Amino acid sequence: MNIQPSTNLLYEGKAKKLFATNDPEILWVEYKNSLTAFNGQLKDSLTGKGALTNQISCFLFDQMNKNDIPTHFVEQTGELTHIAKKVEIIPLEVVIRNLTTGSLCKRLGIKEKIRLPRPLLELYYKDDDLGDPFVSDEHALLFGWSNENDLSEVKRMALKINTILGELFDSIGIILVDFKLEFGKTSDGKLVLADEISPDTCRFWDKDTMEKLDKDRFRQDLGDVLGAYQEIFNRLQDAIK
Ligand code: UDP
Repeated sequence: MNIQPSTNLLYEGKAKKLFATNDPEILWVEYKNSLTAFNGQLKDSLTGKGALTNQISCFLFDQMNKNDIPTHFVEQTGELTHIAKKVEIIPLEVVIRNLTTGSLCKRLGIKEKIRLPRPLLELYYKDDDLGDPFVSDEHALLFGWSNENDLSEVKRMALKINTILGELFDSIGIILVDFKLEFGKTSDGKLVLADEISPDTCRFWDKDTMEKLDKDRFRQDLGDVLGAYQEIFNRLQDAIK
């Protein structure tokens, strides 16, 4: 079927709009130029940002599909858009950390930039009003946000994704410091990787200079956010040549 978007806006979030399509199981995803941080307290809009995050995320989701990680991603449909399987999102943000930084250091007083002996997986409860609090497996199971089977599969997939992405970024001179994933269930009950993977949701440091090439440039007011996102996009293009 030739998928066409409808004007029926189903949802508008901080970084994306979701539209219905002529297929009830398929959504039309449109990336926005807006940038937010600190739970929406810091906001800006950068022309060209949406096109970069969409194209980077489409590229990385395509890599996931090719590596047998089931995802919601179907195909890119434009600079700012792609189509995806409709899913019910599991209300957990899964963060994987390879090096220490960010909220981990702030919360626990851990030194910055230490490579962890193994990837650290953390769960956060997706709730903007509560500021996405850190939770344990026990919370996720007890309050029904996930179940034992799905949670262990989510963890297995997240660690496999870390290995695939870590090797890919290493090959283009970038350290995959940490990132956030979201998972969902399709209408037929299949667990899939969903949402996005981009410099908005990952921390990328240049291997040689340790320069930050991600949303921390915006969070920490380091300037040239777009240039950093473009650099990630360019290097990923080189990775497939
Ligand atoms: N992250 C995200 N969305 C969130 C929170 C975190 O994409 O709502 C990503 C963030 O970009 C980083 C990783 O998850 O790559 C870990 O973020 P951290 O917990 O250190 O939070 P932060 O310092 O960004 O508040």
